[in-house]
This record gives sequence, C-alpha cells and structure tokens, in this order.
Amino acid sequence: MRGSLSTRLTRTVGRFVRSQPARIDWPGGVVSFSFDDFPRSALTEGGAILEKYRLRGTYYAALSLAGQDSDMGPMFDIEDIRAAHDRGHELGCHTYSHLDCSRTRSAAVLADISDNTAAFSALLDGFVPVSFAFPFGAVSLGARRALAGRFASCRGIAAGINSGTADLAHLFSKQVYDRSFDEAELCRLVDRNYRIGGWLIFFTHDVAAVPSRYGCTPDQLERMVAYAGERCDVLPVSEVVGRLRRAQAGLRRQRSPLSPMPLGI
Ligand SMILES: [Zn+2]
Repeated sequence: MRGSLSTRLTRTVGRFVRSQPARIDWPGGVVSFSFDDFPRSALTEGGAILEKYRLRGTYYAALSLAGQDSDMGPMFDIEDIRAAHDRGHELGCHTYSHLDCSRTRSAAVLADISDNTAAFSALLDGFVPVSFAFPFGAVSLGARRALAGRFASCRGIAAGINSGTADLAHLFSKQVYDRSFDEAELCRLVDRNYRIGGWLIFFTHDVAAVPSRYGCTPDQLERMVAYAGERCDVLPVSEVVGRLRRAQAGLRRQRSPLSPMPLGI
C-alpha cells in the first residue's frame, strides 16, 4: 500500500513541480504531431498525411521493437527508421525496451536509454535523438530529474496545453485516438492554443482504417492536420524546443547590462 500511495503522490506532485522550466510564448500557438512506438502505419499513412501538407512529425521509437508484430500492426523496421529520417521527420527516444520509467531505478533507465541512443547512432551515422517520450506515459519525480538534463524535452501523456511556464522534463500532450475521437473538442483545443500562444502536442500510435485502441484512422488524423496546419505553426518537437531556446537566449541578451564603454581611444 505504501508503495502504491507513494507512486500516486509522486505522480500528483509531479504535475506541479517543474524540473526543466521553459517559458512558452508563441504568438498564434504551435502544434506538434507525434507517434509513439512507431507502428509502420504511423509513417506509411500518418507520415504521408503530414507530408501532403508539407509538415513533419516526431516518431518516438524503442528500437528493440524493430520488426516485431503487435496489436497495432507491424512495427517499424530499419528501413522505416531511415525513411522517416530521410524524409525530414524527427526520431525521438522511447527507451530501448519500452521501459516503465516510473518503476525502474534511474541508473537502469539511463542504461536502457543509452542502448537506444547507441542503436540510433549505429543506424543513422551518429544520429543522437534529443526528444524523449515516457513509455506508457509513466513518470516519476526521480525519472524526470534523471532525464531532465539528458534530453532537450521529455513528453508524457498528461492531457493539456503547454503554456506559461511549462516543464520540458514533462510536456503535456493530447491523444488522437479513434475510440475517443471528438473532432469538435480537438479543434477547440487548437483554437485555445492559438489564443493563449501555447504549444499543443498531439500523439497517437497506428494510423489505419481499422486502428487499434491506441491509434486513429487516416481520416481523423488528416482532419486534425488540416485544421492545425491552416491556423498555426506545425513543427516537430525538437524544432519547437530549438526556437524556444533561441527566443529565451535573445531575451537574456536584451536584459543583460550594457558592456562598459572602453577607456582610452
Ligand atoms: Zn510507447
């Protein structure tokens, strides 16, 4: 009982503690589309939809799943990883073995992540992923602290828009699932994100005519891509973080005191 209470408390407190705070102030808002686990259809269907609108997504992959079959259909294979990379999509880390980070010691989580990074690097000529998503959305304060400096951002599945002072160590997101798909609600969320200048990250898994419990149909994804693409910036996760960092660096420079005038000449 103590263990489960402790876990619940950690997750609850975790919503209010920011390990890697970042100011989100994006006029008109920005939206990212992400795919967890990387079933093949996320690229063959989902990637094709994004590319039709000249947009790109973020694929969080656990490379031990390569070539496997699942209830989400066939998972990515090595060629899919290369194709996603070549077509300009972002590849993110999802641990190597799809580990529950909230129930694993930090050292073991970091070792598993190193395995995934090494596998990416071997496949893609030294490529190192900078974005991370917690498998199962399972987060603990310890895992957040351990990973906060390891990645530019870590995404969970707690629902919400990232706005004001967000936590790059635990970004909120919103699922696009067939079983809960409510187009009007999701469009309202895009509209709200626009008004408050926030960052809305959608996630799903497979994209198929008959999707799994964790996926959506091509039509559902395209409706959201078209709606968001018409109204605001749509960028992969790492590009949003990169622009936020550059904006914050610019602000710091503006605030720093003027250099003293040189004496002499
Ligand atoms: Zn996953």
